[in-house]
Amino acid sequence: MSLKVGVIGTGMIGQDHIRRLTQVLSGVEVVAVNDIAMDRAESAAPAGAKVFETPQELINDENVDAIVICSWGPAHEEQLLACIAAGKPVFCEKPLVTSAESAIRVMEAEVAYGKRLVQVGFMRRFDADYRRLKTVLDSGALGAPLMYKSVHRNASVPEGLYTSDMPLNDTLVHDADISRWLLDDEITGVEVRVPRRSTRGNDLRDPVMVMLHMSSGVIVDVEISVNVAYGYDIRGELSCETGIAALPNRPATVITDQFGIRQAIPEDWRERFIEAYDQEFREWIAAASAGTATGPTTWDGYTSTLVADAALRAVDSGKLEKIEMIEKPALYSAVEKIAAE
Ligand code: NAP
Repeated sequence: MSLKVGVIGTGMIGQDHIRRLTQVLSGVEVVAVNDIAMDRAESAAPAGAKVFETPQELINDENVDAIVICSWGPAHEEQLLACIAAGKPVFCEKPLVTSAESAIRVMEAEVAYGKRLVQVGFMRRFDADYRRLKTVLDSGALGAPLMYKSVHRNASVPEGLYTSDMPLNDTLVHDADISRWLLDDEITGVEVRVPRRSTRGNDLRDPVMVMLHMSSGVIVDVEISVNVAYGYDIRGELSCETGIAALPNRPATVITDQFGIRQAIPEDWRERFIEAYDQEFREWIAAASAGTATGPTTWDGYTSTLVADAALRAVDSGKLEKIEMIEKPALYSAVEKIAAE
């Protein structure tokens, strides 16, 4: 039997997830949609799906088994709490929420429910290249990790959509989360350096250099550049005691002509991580069909809000900003895996 899903937020990524849930993946059906703009929801709704006027009505509809949240961050808390109150598994795009206090409220509700229901949209954890990098690291063949270099470059970001803080409170969360996951470690402090500003970045603080201090002593340096013009370029390189392990360049046809020898690079995140998003949802569908959630947790969403806040403080102070966390609830320590079909 198919998992019946309702999608809240039918903007850019909501439409892409509806496409993958209806055209790419099996065992799932989009039966309901909602957006603050009813006309956008109506045009994104697959044939036969019901369009709801409010997220609350969609969440509580008896025909909806599980929910995908693709609205904007400030709306997530209310929608997540409603899903947990209804006892329904929910996939929530990053950011989980927009403050640590808000993340704690969602954690408390999930812990009180007694079972994981929330998966956060950190899709890099489902990318085959990152998974191979982690397998090499975890094998111990290169000794202990010492440093990790993470590069996050976007060709451009839509004008007027983001504030100057966007590289630190929206983009950095992906690099921070993948560093925690790869290294199996927590971030204890953040430093930020702001180099010469790109004239292509308009009002954005772009580029930025971030140093994430891990509890093991590993230091992660992150370059975030969101207006590089040439494409979407994601890199990662681990320096270990006896060797280096790096993400490969994505396979692409090698073209040789009068301009040289070159390979195309992805245009944006949809192209670079297309298989990762598919795999992320394959695993979510398997878990949600069993009435629970696996993958990135509410705790992971909580820590990413702390990192973003610390990074913004570090811009002002110019110093290492420490991260203080609450005690990790036991619900988020267990490793759960439900095989995807
Ligand atoms: P978007 O194009 O602006 O779409 C968001 C949609 O949600 C818009 O139609 C918006 O309507 C609607 N919305 C806002 N508040 C709502 C509410 N309270 N209830 C119902 N609908 C509401 O943004 P997007 O690029 O799709 O991003 C959506 C989320 O996905 C964000 O949290 C973003 O950070 C995340 N994201 C993640 C990735 C990733 O790589 N994992 C990539 C892209 C985006 P209005 O436009 O009228 O406000």
